[in-house]
Amino acid sequence: MSLLQVKQLVVEFPGRRGTLRALDRVSFEIAPGEILGMVGESGAGKSLTGAAVIGLLEPPGRVAGGEIVLEGQRIDQLGFEQMRSIRGRRIGAVFQDPLTSLNPLYTVGRQLIETIQTHLPVSASEARQRAIALLRDTGIPAPEQRIDHYPHQFSGGMRQRVVIALALAAEPQLIVADEPTTALDVSIQAQIISLLKNICHQRGAAVLLITHDMGVIAETCDRVAVMYAGRIVEMGPVHQVINHPMHPYTAGLMASIPDMDADRDRLNQIDGAMPRLHAIPPGCAFHPRCPQAIARCRSERPELSPVGVTQTACWLHTTEGAAA
Ligand code: SF4
Repeated sequence: MSLLQVKQLVVEFPGRRGTLRALDRVSFEIAPGEILGMVGESGAGKSLTGAAVIGLLEPPGRVAGGEIVLEGQRIDQLGFEQMRSIRGRRIGAVFQDPLTSLNPLYTVGRQLIETIQTHLPVSASEARQRAIALLRDTGIPAPEQRIDHYPHQFSGGMRQRVVIALALAAEPQLIVADEPTTALDVSIQAQIISLLKNICHQRGAAVLLITHDMGVIAETCDRVAVMYAGRIVEMGPVHQVINHPMHPYTAGLMASIPDMDADRDRLNQIDGAMPRLHAIPPGCAFHPRCPQAIARCRSERPELSPVGVTQTACWLHTTEGAAA
């Protein structure tokens, strides 16, 4: 059984000039222990998807359709308190900036111990021992001393390790990690990604990893969902999608990964920009930027459909589109 099922999720932002649809029937599943990457340019809807899953959509954003189901329990309609308890206990979160998850006024130990004791039936001394073990497991040197330090006494990379420890403190089944390394030095990024991957694997926690970086996806994930203009346009096993991208947008993202071996002067970028929510083109939303667009792409929107082991939303991969 899937750990998480997101079915036909619609997120809307009501505004003075009408309602904008930011996520349009997004569906995916995550199995226990699986790492699903969600990739796309800024504005594609990947962070909104993560925010909807953890119940932290910023108003006036709202779930306007579909379902989010965690282990058979629908969680998209829960009240704030119920969702807060699920967020600590069953879903952990790691954000881009570690300081959004840590309270600067409390030691990291206090924050870890409080989280552990809120969600697990353990004594204060047991919680402290668990907190020290978590800091050790996330690679914090001298955790017996560091537990009594404040967030500002840690470097950016060490702070993100503390946030990962905090996200795992109540032994959740799912971690939602939204651009967990974007704010860090390039030299630290690979260490944090490998920590996240290994520690979640050891604990059997599944991960929804949101990133704009296809290189991170390639190194970390089991499967990947590629988002464009509020929709998933391709989804499948990571090696298949990377080596044989079906959707022209995925192919463009792949070409933008820097290749140290290749003799290229500049990154191969996709021309144009992601459309804004109020100006999503008719037909396939990618058609103004697509080098392979056909007439039908301008008027009819392709649905995500199976093609071998992946799914893609592109007329080139339907019998009728290919014929045209
Ligand atoms: Fe390009 Fe058409 Fe496929 Fe969209 S449906 S990605 S415009 S070929």
